[in-house]
Parts: sequence; C-alpha cells; structure tokens
Amino acid sequence: MARPLIAVATLGGTISMAPVGGGGGAVPRLGAAELLGGLGDVPMDVLAETLAGIGSASLDFATLLRCREWGLRQDADGFVVVQGTDTLEETAYFLDLHWPSETPVVVTGAMRNAGLFSPDGPANLRNALTVAADPRSRGRGVLVTLNDDVHAARWVRKAHSSHLEAFSSAPAGPLGMVVEHAVHWFHPSPPRLPSLDGDDFGGLVPVVETGLDDSGAFLEHAASQPDVRGVVIAATGVGHVSSGTADVISRLVPSLPVVVASRTGAGPTLRSTYGFHGSESSLIAMGATMAGWLDARKSRILLHALLASGADRARIEQEFRARGDLDR
Ligand code: ASP
Repeated sequence: MARPLIAVATLGGTISMAPVGGGGGAVPRLGAAELLGGLGDVPMDVLAETLAGIGSASLDFATLLRCREWGLRQDADGFVVVQGTDTLEETAYFLDLHWPSETPVVVTGAMRNAGLFSPDGPANLRNALTVAADPRSRGRGVLVTLNDDVHAARWVRKAHSSHLEAFSSAPAGPLGMVVEHAVHWFHPSPPRLPSLDGDDFGGLVPVVETGLDDSGAFLEHAASQPDVRGVVIAATGVGHVSSGTADVISRLVPSLPVVVASRTGAGPTLRSTYGFHGSESSLIAMGATMAGWLDARKSRILLHALLASGADRARIEQEFRARGDLDR
C-alpha cells in the first residue's frame, strides 16, 4: 500500500523552544526539520516547511492565510500545523472556517519545551501525523491533537495554563483518542458548513469583557476607536450585561455589529429566558447577535472572518446561528 504523504508546516511555539544558555528562558530554536528528525522513522512520507518561528500570541491572520495556502498547494493526504498552544484554539478555528477541502488538517503543539523533563512535543507531533494520515479524518475539517486526545476546532479551548492535560472540548468532549499509533474515533463530526473566503482582514474586532460595576464606558471608548469593525462582548452568564452597558450597546448596534458571548467558558448564550434591561432578550431586541455555544475568542475569529468576506448584518446573524449551533 502507498505510504500517505503528510505536509507539515511549523510556526513556532513551545514545541520548537529550548532554553538559551546562561539561564535564559526558552525561545524558538527548532524548525520543521529538527522537530521531525526527533521522531525517527514514521510510516508516512513527510514534506515539511518552517513557515515561522515565533510565540503564538504574535501570529496574525496574514501568516495563517499563508499557512493555509502552503498546505493547499502541497496536495498531500493530510496537513499538520505546529504552533504554540496559547492561541492554538484560535488558529484551529480560523483554519477550520477557511479550509475548503476534505483533506484533514491537524493542529498541534506542546506544553513542555525541549529543556524540561518529559517534553510532550514529540508524542504530540507523532500523534498529529497519525491523525492526519487516517482516512477517517477526511471531511472532518480542522482537528487538534494534544495529550493523546483528538478535538474538533469548533469546541477546543486551552483550559489550563501549564498542565499537560490543558485542552478541553467541554461540554461536547473530544472526538477521539490516539492509542498505539491508531485513532480511536468516539464521535462523528457535525456536517461541515461552506468555507469562508474573505481577504479584507484589516481593522479591529476587539473582545470587551464585562462584569461587576461596569458602566459601559470602556466599551464605548473601545468601540469608538478608528478601524473598529465590530465588537464581541464577553458577557456574564447566559449573555447578560449591566444596564449601563446595555445602553451603550443600544447606541452601538445601529452602526456596528455587536456579538454577545458568554464569559463563563462553557455553555451557550440564551435567547428568551430573561427579560430585564441588559438580559439576552433585551440585547437581541436591540439588534445584537448572540454567539450561542461559541466562546468570545472563537466569536472574534468568526466575526472578523465574516467582515473580511464582506458579510452584511443579516448574514452575520445567520452565520452565528448556524456556526454557534443555535439552529441545530
Ligand atoms: N506557551 C506557549 C506554547 O505553548 C507559547 C506559545 O503559545 O507560543 O507554545
């Protein structure tokens, strides 16, 4: 049987880092060739490229679009993207929204750099190759593997800052697990929605978290900055804000898309349970869009991607309903 061809693009992150001499901290030092060289023989052909070598908070949409183009060009059986874990959930979701092919994409990284005891990078990369080469990964969009779990880009979040078990897909749970170099699939993936194709990523889409004693003044200030194209509110509970913040939202909504997500880290925004000023139903009545099961981070990526593709307000509402699982 022909060996699968897997394309691997590396962008940096802890998996590529090792401490500098003289007691300095870990910095990006390993490119694609070194990372793959550490795995020894693997049962697939691998074509690898170092596209960047940076901490993942410094990644930007332009780099991710370049990464996507590189991956599509290789015409491989699977595509692995290696990067830092800090923004991995955002990269995975961004690529998931923009990946037009059935070819599996698997994003991975590491929690422990090469200078620490038991670095997890080699195992995670080896698992990513396994997942990318599995024909049953086809059509599932972008997947994430770390710590032997296989997650859907749609659900995965970094839920711990330092643990090896840092990634969670709560409440949906992981799609599968890698055991002895084979993927054990627990769940089918939900049907894929058409990929987005925007290229106008200029401007800003800030996330503004709200909470106790929030007059809404900071939201108003943030939204009035030049180049702001939309705002995501990390709202309390099921999508609630203070009455002052609700006043600000009602002033913003006529000219700016406002998406309301829950800041809780799990669970959806609601639509019709509460009725007070600042409740979910009052914000919907003003014209705000609810994020459903999408958290504020993923909502920011989706809103920016929709604006980049020229979506109007009706389309933004419709896409959040579909992709935030409000319509399922
Ligand atoms: N601590 C991060 C990591 O896990 C650094 C980064 O995200 O680049 O890779």
